[in-house]
Amino acid sequence: MLVSMRVLFATAELSPIAAVGGLAAAAAGLGIELRRAGVDVDLVMPDYGGISLVDEVSIELDVPDWAGPAVVRRGHHVDVGALTLISAPGLARSHPYLQPDGSGWDDNSERFFRFGRAIAALAELERPDVLHLNDWHTGSALAALVDGPPTVVSIHNLAYQGIADGSWLDLIGPHADHFEWWGGTNPLSGALALADRIVAVSPRYASEIRTPQGGFGLDGPLSERADALLGILNGIDTDVWNPATDAHLPANFRPASVAAKATNRLALLERFGFDDDPTLLATVVTRLTEQKGIDLLVPLIPLLEQIPLRLGLLGSGDAVLAAQLRRLADQYPHHFAFVEGYDESLSHQMFGGADMFLMPSRFEPCGLTQMQAMRYGTVPVVTAVGGLVDTVPDADEHDDGLGFVAKEATPEHLLAALFRATRRLSTKTRRTEIQKRMMNVDWSWVRPAQRYAELYRELLDGAKA
Ligand code: ADP
Repeated sequence: MLVSMRVLFATAELSPIAAVGGLAAAAAGLGIELRRAGVDVDLVMPDYGGISLVDEVSIELDVPDWAGPAVVRRGHHVDVGALTLISAPGLARSHPYLQPDGSGWDDNSERFFRFGRAIAALAELERPDVLHLNDWHTGSALAALVDGPPTVVSIHNLAYQGIADGSWLDLIGPHADHFEWWGGTNPLSGALALADRIVAVSPRYASEIRTPQGGFGLDGPLSERADALLGILNGIDTDVWNPATDAHLPANFRPASVAAKATNRLALLERFGFDDDPTLLATVVTRLTEQKGIDLLVPLIPLLEQIPLRLGLLGSGDAVLAAQLRRLADQYPHHFAFVEGYDESLSHQMFGGADMFLMPSRFEPCGLTQMQAMRYGTVPVVTAVGGLVDTVPDADEHDDGLGFVAKEATPEHLLAALFRATRRLSTKTRRTEIQKRMMNVDWSWVRPAQRYAELYRELLDGAKA
C-alpha cells in the first residue's frame, strides 16, 4: 500500500494570503495540487497578522531566546485549507518585506532568521518525511536542523538572497559555517550547500544559475552541487486563469470559440483609448523592475506606428520608469497606453483581449505571465531567457511553435521579434492556428506536482536505503 508522504512546505508567501510575486502563486499552486495528488502537505508561512483560521490550535516551539517566543497556529483557512502560521517577534507586518514608503523593513534579516529557526524547531517536533524550503526567507532553517528529514530547496529567484551581517553566524545554529559569505551571512548559500536537492523553477534557469551571468554570485556553489540541482517548470492555476469562465472578461471563450476574443479586444481598445481598427494590439502586465526589461521597450515606443502595432502596459514599481512611460503615453496616445498600478481585473482583460503579450525580461526564473497569455490565446513575444525558453518555442523555427523569441534582451532584437510576430499574426488563419495550439497546452500544476512528488519519493527511498 502506498503510504502518504508528509511534507513540511515552508514559504514566505502564499496566494491569496500574502502575495508579492511568483513565489506566492507557486507555493499555493504546488501545495494544493500535491494535496490533490495525495501528498500530505503542511503549508507553513509567517503569521503576518490578520489571518483567520477555523478550528485553531496553538503550540509553543522550542527556540533559542533570540528567535522567540515562537508559536505555531494551526487550523483551516478558507482559501488554502490546512495552514500552519508561525508567529515570532517582528513577523507580523502590513507587508511581508516592505514598509509603506516602499523600502524594506530594517529588520528583515532578523525576522526571517527567526522564521527559519522556527521552521527547524517545527521540523524537529513534527518529524515530516521531507522538508521543502523556498527561497532565502526559509534557508536558515538548515543552519539549525540536526538529524532532520531529507530536504529540498526551491529557487524562485536567485536575485534575492537576504544577505545579512556576519554576527548572525554566532546565532543561527550548528551548521552556520555553511552560511558564511564574504564576511556576511547568506541564508541562501548555506541552504544550497546543505539541501539534499535544489530545484530551480525551470530547466533553463537550472543551467543559467550555474553561469557568472545568471548566478548572482552563487554560480560557484551551485556548480559544485550540479548533481543535486534540477529544474521543474512551474504551472499556473488553471481555475483562476480560465478564459471559459473568467468573470473579469466581457466575453468568455474556449479554443473552438477563440473568435469571441474580438469582443474582449474591442473593450480593451476602448479602455486604452485606441481606434477600433485591425492594427494588432500587444499588452504587458508586469512589475517595473530591471529584471523585466521594460526599459528595453522604451526606445521602441516611438516606432510602434511603423511596425504597425499598439501597446497597452499595466505595471507598478520603479518611479523613474513609470514617469517615462507616462510621458510616452501622452506623446503617442494612438499607439501607447500606460496604466500605473496593480490591477487584477484589468490584467485578466489584458490577457483576454490582446493579440500579443510582450515579455522583454533580462532574466526570468520561470515566468507566469507568458503561460497566462497563452492560456488566453494571446501570443507571447519574449526574450530567450529562463522559463521563457522552456515554454515558448519560436513559431518561425518550430512547426509547433507558440510565440516569438528575441535572441537577446536588446531593443534591436526585440524589434526584430516584433516585426516577425506582426507579420505572422496579421493573417487570421495563421493567428488562429497558433492561438488554438497554445490554448490546448496543459499549463496546470498537475505535471509539476507529479515531478515534485517523484522527487520526494526518491529522497525518502534514499533516506531509508
Ligand atoms: P514575477 O517575477 O513578478 O513574479 P511572474 O510572471 O512570475 O513575475 O508573475 C507575476 C504575477 O503577477 C502574474 O500572475 C501577473 O499577472 C501578476 N502581475 C504582475 N504585475 C501586475 C500588475 N501590475 N497588475 C496585476 N497583476 C500583475
